[in-house]
Amino acid sequence: MLNLKKTLYLFFFSSLLLFAQPKVTLQVLGSGGPESGDKRASSSYLIWIDGKSKILIDFGGGASLRFEEAGARIKDLDVILLTHLHVDHTADLPALLKSSFFTRASGKLHLFGPDDNKFMPSTKDFVERLFDGDNGAWQYLGDHLNGDASLQLKAHNISMNKKEKVIYKQGNIIISAVSVHHGPIPAIAYRVNVGKKSVTFSGDMNGDYHTLEKLGFKTDILVMHNAVPKNAKGVAAQLHMTPLIIGEIAKKAEAGSVVISHRMLRTLGKEKETNCEIRRNYEGDVQYANDKDKYKVN
Ligand SMILES: [Zn+2]
Repeated sequence: MLNLKKTLYLFFFSSLLLFAQPKVTLQVLGSGGPESGDKRASSSYLIWIDGKSKILIDFGGGASLRFEEAGARIKDLDVILLTHLHVDHTADLPALLKSSFFTRASGKLHLFGPDDNKFMPSTKDFVERLFDGDNGAWQYLGDHLNGDASLQLKAHNISMNKKEKVIYKQGNIIISAVSVHHGPIPAIAYRVNVGKKSVTFSGDMNGDYHTLEKLGFKTDILVMHNAVPKNAKGVAAQLHMTPLIIGEIAKKAEAGSVVISHRMLRTLGKEKETNCEIRRNYEGDVQYANDKDKYKVN
């Protein structure tokens, strides 16, 4: 009798726990790279939590329109994560900030990105060069940095580190970051945990640091960038992972599924070849992203 009671209690509480899990959806806003002609917005992703557009990852050219089309709201955003500062990952940020003026967005919007090296400014510097009230390219938006605007952009630098660390914690959201190798460009991969669910973003990288497989260990969805085809060599292979490496990392990470994005003219139409390469190591589900595609995180 006691055992039955215990079992019923356990069942009751585990159902409650299941019920309490947030609804998390990954939406691809931009599935393309930097070139024109791919008919895709450049790199950008959105994480919806219980129907709210909460976390933005990258915001390349075209992402602003996709954000609108997706029905996302700036006022619901908590955090923006920049994997690196290349144009195809950041170009629409000024458009987002300006459009916030016409919304009820208020409070702090945290923006994380890499620290500097001799090739790139730090994320804080980057934001200041764009929006600083005295010297910024769009200095008329300076009120969004320590000013009177109701939405305040708060930039944070993530130092280059091959050991992952938690950079943000709020309620059931925990975001971790680690450095990845993108040639000479400081670049970060992120893992977003919401309760027990998680999505991990490679950003642009070639896999040399072997950090992503650890960051993304047992993640539900691993978003991987497919900027180069099977036989990529030289600079392309210094900057980006080949499909074989995508499969190796996904296998080591034991990822629940893989979403292939940052698709470019040199990889579009080669999905069969890409899949064969990935399948040499990884047996899980592989999806090829298009703009505005949604993936439920289970
Ligand atoms: Zn890119």
